[in-house]
Amino acid sequence: MENKKIFLSSPTMHTEEMEYIQLAFDTNWVAPLGANVTGLENDMAAYTGIKHGAALSAGTAAIHMAFMVLGIKPGDIVFCSSLTFSATANPITYVGAIPVFIDSEEETWNMDPKALRKAFEKYPDAKAVISANLYGTPAKLDELAAICKEHGVPFVEDAAESLGATYHGKMTGSFGEIGIFSYNGNKIITTSGGGMMMSDNEAYTKKAVFLSTQAREPAKHYEHKEIGYNYRMSNIVAGIGRGQMKHLDEHVALKRAIYKQYQEAFADISELTMNPYLPDSEPNFWLSCMTIDQKSKVTPAMIGEALEQKNIESRPIWKPMHLQPVFSENDFIQVKEGMSVGEDIFNRGICLPSDIKNTPEDMNQIITIIRGLFGK
Ligand SMILES: *Cc1c(COP(=O)(O)O)cnc(C)c1O
Repeated sequence: MENKKIFLSSPTMHTEEMEYIQLAFDTNWVAPLGANVTGLENDMAAYTGIKHGAALSAGTAAIHMAFMVLGIKPGDIVFCSSLTFSATANPITYVGAIPVFIDSEEETWNMDPKALRKAFEKYPDAKAVISANLYGTPAKLDELAAICKEHGVPFVEDAAESLGATYHGKMTGSFGEIGIFSYNGNKIITTSGGGMMMSDNEAYTKKAVFLSTQAREPAKHYEHKEIGYNYRMSNIVAGIGRGQMKHLDEHVALKRAIYKQYQEAFADISELTMNPYLPDSEPNFWLSCMTIDQKSKVTPAMIGEALEQKNIESRPIWKPMHLQPVFSENDFIQVKEGMSVGEDIFNRGICLPSDIKNTPEDMNQIITIIRGLFGK
């Protein structure tokens, strides 16, 4: 019998998305801009508490624009999480700057404040810091932001995976000078593709909109003093986002329930640990992940293969940037001796199916397969 496919994390659409798209059609605001784009920026501002947003074509574009508006220049050093998706790091190179990668700590898997301090000792002239909240788990954000302040360097918070997660009751994305979000297909809400750069500083978001719309100077003819980009979000895409925003809290609640179910189901398997988070944080639980003890006979690859045989998707942990061939020349700062924290998590970890449309039967099937591998 053909098994139905169980996804890692696929889009979950409701009914309001089509209503907002219809609104765009009815008013013929299909392109270039329109009410949905402004509407999504306002919805995000109301939700996150960050004052201003610039809706863009991707989270990666939002990170690129962040470095542009911060004036990061060729040759500048930018500190960047090592354990993350490559989209955190790539835009550093788009502006000609040089990423120096920073190891993770074990409590959240995110940038280690101690390693960041060490990096500033080695590179006192670094110009910016970008740190991700991996799998929706807030980093030690107060500490990271405080270190950046001490050094007078802007903090860019890559909240692409953590929309809706909070730390000390404050929304992720709001801890630095600039926060960025993604609405890519498998994120906690999606617009099919898109992103947003947000800041309390309106000069930043205004500049991002200007650069993202080909840097047209205010003149009747087409006048350009700077190189521009075509990065603005379309009104159709923004309509999907407005509909999705109405269901964001519901998505977070369902993701949390998935995490809790795995946590309880594996509680008696001492070799397994769910991805950790700080007690004073509320992750959005975008992806439930776990690590397996070094001593265990079961490997992440074995779990991945056993699931795949039943047409169930899982995924390895992001491979750290400092281990990527494309960044082999870049420096990496760690405080732990021997194998870095990031590499250890990569070796021992796996992302579990975390689709909010999974039925109780789907979850039971996944859990039974994994427990079976541990002889339970
Ligand atoms: C998804 C993601 C991005 C990029 O977002 P896109 O919208 O896909 O360009 C950036 N950083 C992290 C950590 C991500 O997971």
